[in-house]
Amino acid sequence: MGEFDLIERYFKRPAKQAVLGVGDDCALIQPTAGMQLAISSDMLVEGRHFLSTVDPARLGHKALAVNLSDLAACGAQPLAFTLALALPRADEAWLTGFSQGLLQLADDFGCELIGGDTTQGPLNICITVFGEVPPGDAHLRGNAQAGDDIYVSGTLGDARLALEVFRGTQSLDAPAFEQARLRLEKPTPRIALGIELRAIANAAIDVSDGLLGDLGHILKRSGLGAQIDTTWLQAAQTFGNGQAAGISPQLAALPFNKRLDFALSGGDDYELCFTAPVNQRELVHAAAWEANTPVTRIGRMTEAAGLVVLDPQGQPISRRFASFDHFA
Ligand code: ADP
Ligand code: MG
Repeated sequence: MGEFDLIERYFKRPAKQAVLGVGDDCALIQPTAGMQLAISSDMLVEGRHFLSTVDPARLGHKALAVNLSDLAACGAQPLAFTLALALPRADEAWLTGFSQGLLQLADDFGCELIGGDTTQGPLNICITVFGEVPPGDAHLRGNAQAGDDIYVSGTLGDARLALEVFRGTQSLDAPAFEQARLRLEKPTPRIALGIELRAIANAAIDVSDGLLGDLGHILKRSGLGAQIDTTWLQAAQTFGNGQAAGISPQLAALPFNKRLDFALSGGDDYELCFTAPVNQRELVHAAAWEANTPVTRIGRMTEAAGLVVLDPQGQPISRRFASFDHFA
């Protein structure tokens, strides 16, 4: 199978919303008049971002999900994406699974594959997504205000827990492992929540490298500090729709120190961390409800610089939390 057969077979579908999709020198998209384009790229490298043994359909899902998560953080509506792919060989079973997982998630979010590049080489997946957002509505890292509440969506720490089971440092029974593993391998981009929060949140970021590290970007850009409380790590809460909020039951079953590590600095969560004024609490809850997405209030932005984590008794925790940094 040659390069062009491969593209034709696995990645070319008739354009639905795009003016021109896969097959020409450029793709053409027509954003809604008056909207701004939101653009983001994320690369996944074998051995660095995923295990070589991962199910190809889940890998296809995750490669797009981590990109959609960036659009969610900005409050953008997905439009389209491109896929730059380096493959060691044209393995049909792998390509079938990968393209199915990828295109299923693309369909779920109305985000079309409109082009890309395909080459032979060590497995590497680079996606660029295009979304749109009304001018002035994108939540940016530098817009947090002193006194803002800080929230996270969904649950934190499960992806790290699953990774530690793969590494052999933690063990779980089969159903709990399957739950945690789904969070690692099939993250849910919080697009609906990002859009609902457009006029409500001041600042937002998606949690990819660990909550404290990612929140640190908001602090730095906004020139502020934060106080994080950890009462929400004491037990798994249940959101109105039955989904866990804050932490999952399998995380709640771990010793408190492990919960702290995995939820505050685990990474690979792809949840939203955002800030909003205290007088918007009801609107935040309404947005969570509309988006059918659990949201937990975890602290507040402070005028005083620095990131303080309080234990459930309200005393500062002095230990260090590592965040993921590829070059650290
Ligand atoms: P060019 O030579 O102009 O760079 P290519 O030969 O690389 O174009 O690709 C041919 C067409 O296939 C282009 O429209 C390109 O966007 C698309 N394409 C290539 N690889 C992929 C891929 N992995 N997924 C989707 N479209 C792709
Ligand atoms: Mg090319």
